[in-house]
Amino acid sequence: MVQHDAQGSDAAGRVALITGASRGIGRGIALELARAGGYHLAINYLANEGAAYETASACRAVGREAGHELRAEIVRGDVASAADRQGLIDFVRERYGRLDLLVNNAGVAPSVRADILEATEESFDRLVQINLKGPYFLTQLAARYMIEQLGGRPAAPGTRNVVTITSISAYTASVNRGDYCIAKAGLAMHTKLWAARLAECGIGVFEIQPGVIETDMTAAVRARYDALFAADLTPFPRWGTPADVGKAVTAVARGHFPYSTGMVIDVDGGFRLRRL
Ligand code: NAP
Repeated sequence: MVQHDAQGSDAAGRVALITGASRGIGRGIALELARAGGYHLAINYLANEGAAYETASACRAVGREAGHELRAEIVRGDVASAADRQGLIDFVRERYGRLDLLVNNAGVAPSVRADILEATEESFDRLVQINLKGPYFLTQLAARYMIEQLGGRPAAPGTRNVVTITSISAYTASVNRGDYCIAKAGLAMHTKLWAARLAECGIGVFEIQPGVIETDMTAAVRARYDALFAADLTPFPRWGTPADVGKAVTAVARGHFPYSTGMVIDVDGGFRLRRL
């Protein structure tokens, strides 16, 4: 009989680290986790400290409204920097003493959308560094910390998870942002690799592929996507919201997929569906 870790039942004090949670989808994930309860939150940001504070205080308020007190602290760190990635894990270790959920959400769009006949190596390197290398090696650090805490036993089903936010761009060719698509396609393989490696530890690894979500990232192309939605881009004819993505992360975090790993969850209004 497999013996699981003792912390599996200690649902009230679990800890989640969410990268890029000052704004947009990351904030939506933090708020949904706060609403559901059971997790203290480490809110990572890069430049917008004020927005990160707002996320943290909104999380505490939402948690209180829902009847649970939670800690939500902010932590600066660039996921593209090895030293900062270590700093994020050190912060969680020192301030919370455990890690149950890593959400790799932080990511950027190319500064300029350029045709792949014209796009630069600088943009490619930046996108790969932040959107692919960052989450891959942060997962390595987080996984080592989780394994250390498990003390040689597998996690109780559904209690320790890594969730990575990729995109429909992992499989959809957009020739004006090839760097973004390639980084997200690589990140899809990251999920498969970590799922295969961490299964023996009982750690679930999931990928969420959002479609078009209303955030600062998509603000510059709002009119273009409004027109596409009007022209039947998706079966559900609306923009996605950060809360839509947050609810999917929360389902994983609450242990609702105890016998799944390496799974891709579409949060895309049905974009993937082929229709005739
Ligand atoms: P956003 O509104 O631009 O927010 C980006 C967040 O990431 C901010 O919190 C930002 O922090 C943080 N960040 C950026 N670079 C960082 C770095 N190097 N290290 C740490 N944090 C960093 O973007 P979003 O739309 O919420 O996107 C979040 C994720 O979802 C990204 O991975 C994106 O590729 C993915 N996604 C988005 C869409 C969409 O339609 N919006 C669709 C599919 C997938 P500061 O506030 O401090 O700058």
